Amino acid sequence: MDLKSLNYEELQNEIKNLGESAFRAGQIYDWMHKKGAESIDEMSNLSKNLRERLKTGYEYTALKTVQVQESAIDGTKKYLFALSDGNLVESVWMKYHHGNSVCISSQVGCRMGCKFCASTLDGLERGLLPGEMLDQIYRITKETGQRVSNVVVMGTGEPMDNYDNVVKFVHMLSDDKGLNISQRNITVSTCGIVPRIYDLAREDLQITLAISLHAPTDEKRRVLMPIANSYSLKEVMDACRFYFEKTGRRISFEYALVSGVNDRDEEVRELSALLGGGGYHINLIPVNPIKERNFKSTGHSRVLQFKNKLEKNGINVTIRREMGRDIDGACGQLRRRHLTGDSTQA
Ligand code: SAH
Repeated sequence: MDLKSLNYEELQNEIKNLGESAFRAGQIYDWMHKKGAESIDEMSNLSKNLRERLKTGYEYTALKTVQVQESAIDGTKKYLFALSDGNLVESVWMKYHHGNSVCISSQVGCRMGCKFCASTLDGLERGLLPGEMLDQIYRITKETGQRVSNVVVMGTGEPMDNYDNVVKFVHMLSDDKGLNISQRNITVSTCGIVPRIYDLAREDLQITLAISLHAPTDEKRRVLMPIANSYSLKEVMDACRFYFEKTGRRISFEYALVSGVNDRDEEVRELSALLGGGGYHINLIPVNPIKERNFKSTGHSRVLQFKNKLEKNGINVTIRREMGRDIDGACGQLRRRHLTGDSTQA
């Protein structure tokens, strides 16, 4: 059992069962979730005896920084962390005018198989525990010395394929006993696992849900995303409407532009039909090409045209800033390069 993955209530129960007084739970929780203690030994206001018992009775998640890459263009930092079992995950730190944002991984690898994505090339190893997701943020806060204001679950992995741990993570991250990050500043991105979107809608959270759309018709989506074989766009859109009705939170859609594949006028028309009048928001990003696949990214002027044409049709569009292009910015590239021992840039 990982001590850092227990919520406050669960920790209180454990401490009670150890025969310790209740306020110890508060101290321990504080060390883990506010002070970023890297080991139980750091918890200096606990007796040596209690520390020993915690050490023998529980696992303690503490990520080790393996590598940091800093972008010369925009100061974005990409971290490669080792988990206790030796698995590697990556996280990204981005500086915006409105604060610092961290993009975290929710799984080691991924089994969704999206064709343009480096994270899924070796399949899924395992889902991350809440403590392992939290610790990505704790480590980065410590290393940068700056407060994190926004968290996006858009790194490696499919959060809805690690549902319980992700929901618990959101609760712990927004808890005032922890980093107390407002749920409105947390975004969870999914490739569109429909039943989990309904479940999430019922959790009563105020987070932003992002859907990875990437194509405007089922046929075109199946070429890029195997999940489209399981759920149709109609089912995804119905689930999105339910999410909005239940939570009052607007859905945002992610659309990676691939030259000649999903960036033509035909797709403008189809996207407008799909999203028009829905009050939706779409985020465009030129696909970040990975060398294992030969997708080409849409050029800057075409991205602007695509945006303008959608806007003319009444759709809310932003172009996502491409952060850290010079540092393996695409999802899963850094970890993969480390695992394969490949030293060439993708
Ligand atoms: N599995 C989740 C979250 C992780 S991926 C999801 O599918 O939403 C985060 C986002 O990055 C998704 O929109 C994903 O489609 C996108 N992405 C992955 N590889 C990319 C690449 N090479 N270029 C641009 N976007 C990419």
